[in-house]
Amino acid sequence: MKIVAAVARPREPFALAECELAEPGPRELRVKVEACGLCRTDLSAKDHDYGTPLPAVLGHEGVGRVEALGDEVDGFAIGQRVLMSFGACGRCGECRQRMPAYCARAMDFNVFGRRPDGTGPITLEGQAITGHFFGQSSFASHAVVSTTNLVPLADDLPPTLMCGLACGVQTGVGAALNVLRVEPRDVLVVAGCGTVGLSAVMGAVIAGCASIIAIDRSDARLEVARSLGATRVINNRGLDRDALKRQLRQLGPTRAVDSTGAPEVIEAVFAALRRRGVLALAGLSRARTRISIDANRLMSSGRVIRGTVEGDADPRVFIPQMIAWYRRGQLPLEALVTSYPFVQINRAAEALDRGRAIKPVLFMD
Ligand SMILES: [Zn+2]
Ligand SMILES: [Zn+2]
Repeated sequence: MKIVAAVARPREPFALAECELAEPGPRELRVKVEACGLCRTDLSAKDHDYGTPLPAVLGHEGVGRVEALGDEVDGFAIGQRVLMSFGACGRCGECRQRMPAYCARAMDFNVFGRRPDGTGPITLEGQAITGHFFGQSSFASHAVVSTTNLVPLADDLPPTLMCGLACGVQTGVGAALNVLRVEPRDVLVVAGCGTVGLSAVMGAVIAGCASIIAIDRSDARLEVARSLGATRVINNRGLDRDALKRQLRQLGPTRAVDSTGAPEVIEAVFAALRRRGVLALAGLSRARTRISIDANRLMSSGRVIRGTVEGDADPRVFIPQMIAWYRRGQLPLEALVTSYPFVQINRAAEALDRGRAIKPVLFMD
């Protein structure tokens, strides 16, 4: 069928174009997209040689309604609303241990944007283009999605607020709760106050953490962090690694999450941690970034530095849990979201890139 999709080419604006979408395969379904969030990963995939073959239809935080079902699909019905999270095979060792973010095929499904057999469902002017980004490619009117990506979503939930649960919010809340397992007595540092960092703040508040230190270069975003429960904020514009380390060390952090991907910030936060402190890296760095850690200090302090993808979450368990928190008012997603009509995708991307919007979300109608 004919669809409208935003086609991404390197260092060019997104271009809305008519594309052809194949029928869903036996274990896939077609979703009419209602809304899709923009995440930094979309911009990295377009402009920073992240490994996604271009041209591509990006978008990996889609919400929509099921419109067609493959022959072998059960558990989903036409007309049902779904949230599209990241892709995973559902069968490898990591998937079987409920760690789908580390699926053996994660790069294929998500970054390379193709099915296990190497194909994708989208063609543009007769040429196949990358059309299964994070198993969905939902910067489009319609998407063909595998059932393993999908989480059912109740009809009363506002689609634009739910999109971020698919990736950015899941990553931050999951980093705080699944990875760092923040407790009330922890002193948590959150470096970077985009969607991931601010969601980590919300997660830490849910855990009852009494001391949350937010770092960012924007006073406006730090203000949002404060409104969500950060107890202290540090604007690190103009602070070098040592100055930031000194400020943080006085506060005695026990847990930290980085969403900046900036080596000087990561190194400062790590060096400021208390003994046996844990730092989780949850943000994408530029390609080939290296960090420098003193090996003996790492050993003798018992500190831990580790990476996390999607907050170690299993979306089919964690997203319903986050929705329950949202319904109780514990996950005020409206603080993060700015909505744009789909045709304004370039305005939304620019707002994300310049830090004017925290979580831009496109709505399709
Ligand atoms: Zn797998
Ligand atoms: Zn993302």
